Amino acid sequence: MSESKDFLRTIVEEDLKSGKYKEVITRFPPEPNGFPHIGHAKSICINFGIASDYKGHCNLRMDDTNPTKEDTKYVEALKDAVQWLGFDWGENVHFTSNYFPKIYSYAIELIKMGKAYVDSIDEEEMREYRGTVTTAGKRSKYADRTIEENLDLFEKMKNGKFKDGEHVLRAKIDMSAANMKMRDPLLYRIRHAHHFRTADEWNIYPMYDFAHCLSDYIESVSHSICTLEFENNRDIYNWVLDTLGLELPRPFQHEFARLGINYTVMSKRKLLELVDGGQVSGWDDPRMPTIAGYKRRGYTKESILNFCDQIGIAKANSMVDVAQLEFCIRDDLNKKVPRVLCVLDPLKVTIENYEGTEEIDSPYYPHDVPKEGSRKVPFSKNIYIERDDFMENPEKGYFRLTPTQPVRLRHGFIITCKEVIKDTEGNITEIKAEYHPNSKSGSDTSGIKVKSAIQWVSEKEAKKVEVRIYDRLYASEAPEGLEDLNTNSLQVIKNALIEPAVITDKPDERFQFERQGYFYADPIDYTDEKPVFNKIVGLKDSWAKKTKIEEPIQKTEPKKTQVIGTEVAMSEEQKALFEKYTSELKLNNEVANILARDEKLSSFYEETLLELNSPIGLANIVVTEVARELKEKEDSELKFTASQIAQLVKMIDEKIISSKIAKQVFEEMLKSGENPTKIVEDKGLIQISDPSVISPIIDEIIAKNPDNVEKFKSGNTKLLGFFVGQVLKATSGKANPQVINKLVAEKLK
Ligand code: ATP
Ligand code: MG
Repeated sequence: MSESKDFLRTIVEEDLKSGKYKEVITRFPPEPNGFPHIGHAKSICINFGIASDYKGHCNLRMDDTNPTKEDTKYVEALKDAVQWLGFDWGENVHFTSNYFPKIYSYAIELIKMGKAYVDSIDEEEMREYRGTVTTAGKRSKYADRTIEENLDLFEKMKNGKFKDGEHVLRAKIDMSAANMKMRDPLLYRIRHAHHFRTADEWNIYPMYDFAHCLSDYIESVSHSICTLEFENNRDIYNWVLDTLGLELPRPFQHEFARLGINYTVMSKRKLLELVDGGQVSGWDDPRMPTIAGYKRRGYTKESILNFCDQIGIAKANSMVDVAQLEFCIRDDLNKKVPRVLCVLDPLKVTIENYEGTEEIDSPYYPHDVPKEGSRKVPFSKNIYIERDDFMENPEKGYFRLTPTQPVRLRHGFIITCKEVIKDTEGNITEIKAEYHPNSKSGSDTSGIKVKSAIQWVSEKEAKKVEVRIYDRLYASEAPEGLEDLNTNSLQVIKNALIEPAVITDKPDERFQFERQGYFYADPIDYTDEKPVFNKIVGLKDSWAKKTKIEEPIQKTEPKKTQVIGTEVAMSEEQKALFEKYTSELKLNNEVANILARDEKLSSFYEETLLELNSPIGLANIVVTEVARELKEKEDSELKFTASQIAQLVKMIDEKIISSKIAKQVFEEMLKSGENPTKIVEDKGLIQISDPSVISPIIDEIIAKNPDNVEKFKSGNTKLLGFFVGQVLKATSGKANPQVINKLVAEKLK
């Protein structure tokens, strides 16, 4: 158990102490409509973790009330995930569908009590009648049906006498309840669909709000733990159980904050889109945030459990840095796995003064890993090193092999470059080198100073392997959809070379390829004839500020959970705004969330909208620049008006200025209170979009950076950003980034 108790465990302990329950029973209740993701891992850890801490029990329950989306393959994936994480659900898996008959009879009971009725208005009317957050709803005329009529209609619904949508069963609660969810919620709907377990037995299916609390009750659950978005459903949960007179030890619902991770989507629906659209190879694609994906990529269960433990359980929604998950796996493997030599992009090196072969005894584990084991690494005249580890015209601070700088072959000798061989196009094809016989690692008497040791393999003995390098699936921090995908998330290297012991000895399934990262023998595609390795994670956070490779591996822990919203849940008004911002104005969730929760900010935003119809552009400026000002000042103290902000955004929309320049203009507005159009004119900040002006600037930058051009052309497309950045810098941010992008891409083709 973690040292400090979270609020859920505190509640559980109190309930045990007061004798409210004799035994703690929890449940993990996924809907089998997709593979579980890392958010589910958090829920699994909480539910199974609490049960085991207090010697209770946790049920695995498939919440299968929606026949059209569910499938046995998802049930299997859910079982796999729970098992892999090391939890035990006991004898059998439970299914809500097993309780359909019981749930049905509870519905009959409610009808008999006059607490539920069959409604027959259409969807549109139903929406209208529901009212709004500020006005009460009104009840449908069908609410007056007699109990007999209701019983008769409900039975006919069950027996398939009506079409989908013709009738629904509703609870009779309160059409003017402040909690909109309590305005006569639906309990049952008609669905003529084939269910993967009950086949065609049922024509009606219970809604979540009715089925969930009753399933919990039927299973004698004590603590029904769910995520915050169900906070408003808690009233229905209690209403159903109380109205039916189901007494203690009946379950109560408790909510915690759902896990969100940056650069990651966490919704089965969105993940299914990727699978169906072929953007990934399947639910277990190693780039997917599914448990199956992490497992296939090579994550250990310990790293996932440790991550869930670190992020803790909170009552406020938060966004966790994906670097924290990557830290957890790196940290776990660092202490466990053998370190071996693999060359991803081989460059031939011929050691002219060496004849014959020898084997160099090399430990698998560094001295601070409590494991023993070593292998023989063959050495010979013909070896390969990493292409990156040689530079003919080294940049400052380059510590590896150059025409004048010797380097150590890891575990082996020091070599010096004698000659660089190139093909007719000027590409380096081979290095001729000399080794220093008395420089062997461990018994070096050569006195030669080197600044680094590099990986290498002997040509004859090395094994060819395929290496799959994964990067984050999304390039944007708060991804919304396909447009945010990282187009470089998978790179397949077909002809990497690895030292032979990895394949013949098989000391482990996971390895550190020295200086490259952690890798895992792909559990599906790996064969002895064609070994395949997945990159699990790099040795350090490559997305953090780029640092030189030669620096010692940094083992700093990434910053902990950043709390984005401090409020527990939105009020009804805030929810209505959020809804409007996301569905009508198409703002992304993050931005809509910030606006909806901050009244000063949203009213300022609304004011700008009256001036300019550019909801997204306006929102971006408002949640960043304006928000910063409004934090410290009142609306009336601002140096700028909503209309000036609209002018500013209009200039961005019309491509007169770039959004980068807009920030500069905004700073100026704060100082002078001047109109943005005037600032732009006075300071000559108009965006440059003319290719004939931008083009020569790009040419100059290309000429100055031949090495980066080389790297870009050999596949390091991330360097596009470098070139664009340089052009922006050269034009003080005035060049139009889209034009630069296009021109750079053309010129470097
Ligand atoms: P999704 O939106 O991804 O489909 P869901 O909430 O619909 O997720 P369910 O299968 O209904 O998924 O969820 C099973 C359990 O897992 C629920 O108790 C739910 O609260 C929890 N859960 C789902 N997503 C997260 C998350 N991101 N963080 C923590 N718990 C989660
Ligand atoms: Mg769902």
